[in-house]
Amino acid sequence: MNYIPKSVQNLISEFSKLPGIGPKTASRLTFYLLRSSEEDIASLGKTILELKKKIVTCSVCCNIAEENPCPICKNSQRKKSQICVVEEPLDVMALEKTGEYKGTYHVLGGAISPIEGIGPENLYIRQLVSRIKKNRDTISEIILATNPSLEGEATAMYLLEILRPHNIKITRIARGLPVGGDLEYADEVTLTRALEGRKVY
Ligand code: ZN
Repeated sequence: MNYIPKSVQNLISEFSKLPGIGPKTASRLTFYLLRSSEEDIASLGKTILELKKKIVTCSVCCNIAEENPCPICKNSQRKKSQICVVEEPLDVMALEKTGEYKGTYHVLGGAISPIEGIGPENLYIRQLVSRIKKNRDTISEIILATNPSLEGEATAMYLLEILRPHNIKITRIARGLPVGGDLEYADEVTLTRALEGRKVY
């Protein structure tokens, strides 16, 4: 790639680090930007920089937001009695799109995965437990909505074990979701069914 200018090579390699972007797409994006106006590129750069500056982690549910607490935790219309535990902020977005769920969330920030070196201590599990302890009288159900993958199931099992002593109803979303398929990719009907068909442990 010596014949390609260094600055072009650099951007291609930065894009290649992003999920779902192969070398071909990375090159296409880079050459697209090369043809864009300077204003457009400046605006893109600014947006990327602001992403980290403006985003905070909600101190209640650990979801990403631009304010703390996040709009869902702050909303008095949401049922504080239900906490739906998900892996990623994208799962919250997917469930919100269904418009069916009126409770609150707790974002773990991933799933337990020994292969990737992710243990319970790397997730927002401690925050979930202290949230439950603090609000024991208002919470009536914990919905485990981790992905139907190996890691997601292992995480749900782990949570079941540590939450059981708190004597709260714990449910798991139904298996309507394709095994290995992430919540974020499920369509709204499937997600709604999975939520409605949840089973009590
Ligand atoms: Zn929140």
